[in-house]
Amino acid sequence: MIPSMSNQSEKGAIHFDMVIVGGGMVGISLALMLAKQGEWKILLIESNSLDMTTDSALSYSSSFDARSTALSWTSREIYQSIGLWEQLGAHASGINQIHVSDRGHAGITRMTAEEADVDALGYVVENRWLGSVLMNRLKDEEIEICGNTQIDTLKPRSNGIDISMKVGANSSQEELNVRTDLIIIADGADSTTAHKLGINSRRSAYGQTAIIANIQLNQRHQGVAYERFTDQGPMALLPLPDYKGQYRSALVWAQPEETASQLVEASDEDFLRSLQQRFGHRLGTFKQVGQRTAYNLVLTLASEQVRRNVVVMGNAAHSLHPVAGQGFNLSLRDAAALAEKLSEARIQQKSIGSLETLECYYQQQLIDQRNTLVFSDSLTKFFAGPSNVAAMGRNSGLLALDLVPQLRHRFIKFGMGMTAPEAGHG
Ligand SMILES: Cc1cc2nc3c(=O)[nH]c(=O)nc-3n(C[C@H](O)[C@H](O)[C@H](O)COP(=O)(O)OP(=O)(O)OC[C@H]3O[C@@H](n4cnc5c(N)ncnc54)[C@H](O)[C@@H]3O)c2cc1C
Repeated sequence: MIPSMSNQSEKGAIHFDMVIVGGGMVGISLALMLAKQGEWKILLIESNSLDMTTDSALSYSSSFDARSTALSWTSREIYQSIGLWEQLGAHASGINQIHVSDRGHAGITRMTAEEADVDALGYVVENRWLGSVLMNRLKDEEIEICGNTQIDTLKPRSNGIDISMKVGANSSQEELNVRTDLIIIADGADSTTAHKLGINSRRSAYGQTAIIANIQLNQRHQGVAYERFTDQGPMALLPLPDYKGQYRSALVWAQPEETASQLVEASDEDFLRSLQQRFGHRLGTFKQVGQRTAYNLVLTLASEQVRRNVVVMGNAAHSLHPVAGQGFNLSLRDAAALAEKLSEARIQQKSIGSLETLECYYQQQLIDQRNTLVFSDSLTKFFAGPSNVAAMGRNSGLLALDLVPQLRHRFIKFGMGMTAPEAGHG
C-alpha cells in the first residue's frame, strides 16, 4: 500500500514522525509497540512484498521462515503488554526445563520452571506463526505500510531526514518522497540502509553453519529444551506444539561449514542417524526430519546504533550466535526500551530525533546488549574446544551451575530475559 499520494505536494514530501525500514520480526514488533501508544504517524517499509492476503506472503521475509524462536519470559511480557500474547501463546510450547549437557563428558545441568517459580522458563513459537500474528495485527493498526520498496537516497537535514524511495513492482514503480523526524533501521544484518548513512558493521564469522529443521519424535518432549555441546558445535532441540498428533522438536544444529553442507544434502535416513548419534536418546527415537535450512553464523555489530534522527535496531544493530536463543529476545527488549523513551520524549515535549533522546535509549540498553553478546559469544567458544583441558573446564562449569545456587539463579534469570550474567562471567 502506498501512502496516499494526495498528501504529497508536487515536489514536497509526506511527513511521518517515524519511518521503520524492514518488516521483519523486529521492525513489525516495534511498529506495533509504537502504534499502541497512539498519535504517532508511522511508515513501515519493506523491500519484499507485504501482501497480507495470502499465507504464502510470509515466505517473503528473512524473519518468517521455517525457523522457530525461543521467546524468553520477558518477551512474553512485552507481547502481553501490546495484547498479542493470547494469540501467540495459543501456538507456543512452554519450556518447563532446560537441560544442558556436553557430549562425551559428565557435566549436566537442569534448570526448571518450578525453581524459578514461573509457568515456563520461555516459549517456543514457529516463526511463521509469529509472522502471521504480527501481520494480522499490523493490518488493524494505523500504520502506513509499503511493500516492494527500495530506498534511493537518504538526506540528513538539521531536524530530520529526507528519504526518496521507489515503491511497487518493476513495471509499476512510483517514486515516494518522505520527510521524517526519525528513521529506524531494522533491515537485518549487513543493513544496506545503514551503509547508505556511512554506518558499517564489524563482522566476525564463527566458521559454523546452523542447520534448522523440525524433528518428529516417537515420544513427548515434556516441555524440555535440550542444549547439547559437542566438539563440532552446539545443538539445541526445542519443544514444539504437537501437530496433527505428532510430537515435534525444533532443531538448531551448529556445525563446521563443510560438515553442515554434507548434512543438508544427506538423505533423511542418514541425517537422522547422524543426529541420533550426536544427540543420544533422551528424546527417544527421531522418526522424521522436515525441510532443512542452513544459516552461516556471523557475529555482527553496527559501528553506530544511534545518531541524530537515526536508530539502528535488530540484526542491523547486532546479530548473535543462535546457541543461547537470545538474538531476537535482546532486540525485543531494545524495541520496548526505545518505544518507552520515545513516549517519554513526547510527554516532555522533546524532539524524538534528538541525540539526547536517542543516546538515553542507547545508554540504557548498552549493558544488556554487551552482556548478552559476550555471554552468547563466550558460550560458543567455551564449549568449542575438543581438548581435555577445555572439557574439564566445561564439566566444572556445568557442575558449578548445578551446585552454586547464585550462579544458577543468574543463569535462569538470563535465560528468561531478565538480566544477562555480567560480561566476562559467562
Ligand atoms: C538459526 C537461528 C535460530 C535463531 N533462534 C533464535 C531464538 O530461538 N531466539 C532468539 O531470540 N533469536 C533467535 N535467532 C535470532 C533471530 O532470528 C534474529 O534476531 C531476528 O531474525 C532478527 O530480526 P530482524 O527483524 O532484525 O532482521 P531480519 O529477520 O533479517 O528482517 C529484516 C527485514 O528487513 C527487510 N529488508 C532487508 N533490506 C531491506 C531494505 N533495504 N529496505 C526495506 N526492507 C529491507 C527483509 O526483507 C526482512 O523482512 C535465531 C537466528 C538464527 C539464524
